[in-house]
Amino acid sequence: MDRQDKVNSGTYVFAQPVPFEKAFPSIKSLQIKVEIRTGGPMDARPDVRYYTSQNPPGEYVRCPRSSCTDGGWCIGDVLREMVAKGETSRKAGGICSGQERMNRSSFRKCLTLFSANITIEYA
Ligand SMILES: [Zn+2]
Repeated sequence: MDRQDKVNSGTYVFAQPVPFEKAFPSIKSLQIKVEIRTGGPMDARPDVRYYTSQNPPGEYVRCPRSSCTDGGWCIGDVLREMVAKGETSRKAGGICSGQERMNRSSFRKCLTLFSANITIEYA
């Protein structure tokens, strides 16, 4: 198999993301509400996202700020930890891992705050 064949078959370039039910086979149902405060902790009008086992989150909940680079919060880590411990509910949160471009040469840390209520029912 030469390089072009590998590219064509997709095995070389793209790694398939693991489907949610494969990544978390023990989860029967899932409810997640995530509040996203782009203005920091005092933001009174958060963006709210809902996820379920039919509409699961990705590894990251993306930061909605257009000025933010590579932003998001890794909810996958939280879910894996909850499943490992058999937890059925948790409040979790974190700050965006992205950076905001101020001008051509300077960045500051993005202040978007994520806070989630997660409920899991196990099979
Ligand atoms: Zn951000």
